Amino acid sequence: MTGPILVFGRDGQVARELADLAEASGRAMTFAGRGTLDLSDPKAVDSAIEGLIAEIGPGAVINAAAYTAVDRAEGEPDAAFALNRDAPAAMARACAARGLPFTHFSTDYVFDGTLDRPYVETDPTGPTGVYGASKLAGEQAVSAAGGPAITLRTSWVYGAHGANFVRTMLRLAGDRDEIGVVADQIGRPTWARDCAQAALLATDALARDPGLAGVYHLSGAGDASWADLAAAIFAESARRGGPTARVRAITTADYPTPAKRPANSRLDCGKIETALPWRCRPWRESLAACMNEMEF
Ligand code: NDP
Repeated sequence: MTGPILVFGRDGQVARELADLAEASGRAMTFAGRGTLDLSDPKAVDSAIEGLIAEIGPGAVINAAAYTAVDRAEGEPDAAFALNRDAPAAMARACAARGLPFTHFSTDYVFDGTLDRPYVETDPTGPTGVYGASKLAGEQAVSAAGGPAITLRTSWVYGAHGANFVRTMLRLAGDRDEIGVVADQIGRPTWARDCAQAALLATDALARDPGLAGVYHLSGAGDASWADLAAAIFAESARRGGPTARVRAITTADYPTPAKRPANSRLDCGKIETALPWRCRPWRESLAACMNEMEF
């Protein structure tokens, strides 16, 4: 691959992990956060992305930028679709025109959650909210561009930085003894570091073999409810002298949110584990590794 990897996103959870990997490995990557290029204007996004790619001359592109505020998206569909459909569509077209490998992220929320087993890539989609619908439209646009592109659908992403469930639980435990957490939604928590590593692996594999293009599921291994995840966070935190709270299991009905969330959003990762030298790490193991890097 000649030229650096151009990463859209800079301060987001996955983008920051990519930056850490770049620093640790010496791999050349250039990061474009919203300060470099605002992706929210669908009319200007095509020429802005074309211009940036022409200027940087990347060897591959990874899109870690997205509109990720699931509940806020219900009231801001235009902004969600601009970031999650129109921007990746423009990136995918620019990459396809140059034959550049393009790696993109999507979400477990493209599914309606009514299946009683983990979802495989070919299962019918049926998003229950604007965020999921905008991400699904993004995947479809990426694939329609026809270039060598991989979409990694991931789920329940957390990391040592940024806005995520782990940091929210630790913050709430700072001033509450007990926290009510939803126990009837199950999924597969995923460390942002694992997303970044898999994205790099996928990008390199795609550069060697464009036939790998397609949608892949990528998550931590093993199932959890949000209440299970909260309990594991507090167990890890207690071991490190950090804040803890009792977890009170509640139902989705007890905690109404603007966006409806799938009851089951477990992703089956068999396809990526077959196509790439990648093993999804047990989510508790990744959680512990992540929390080793947090300050208490
Ligand atoms: P974050 O919310 O942590 O980061 C969002 C990124 O998008 C930031 O880098 C931000 O830029 C960029 N961005 C937001 N608005 C704009 C804008 N107007 N113009 C340019 N860039 C913008 O996201 P994650 O790292 O958590 O998510 C990575 C991917 O994983 C996304 O595709 C997301 O949909 C997907 N995903 C995430 C899940 C989760 O639980 N978080 C679950 C399932 C899938 P800047 O760096 O400048 O701040």
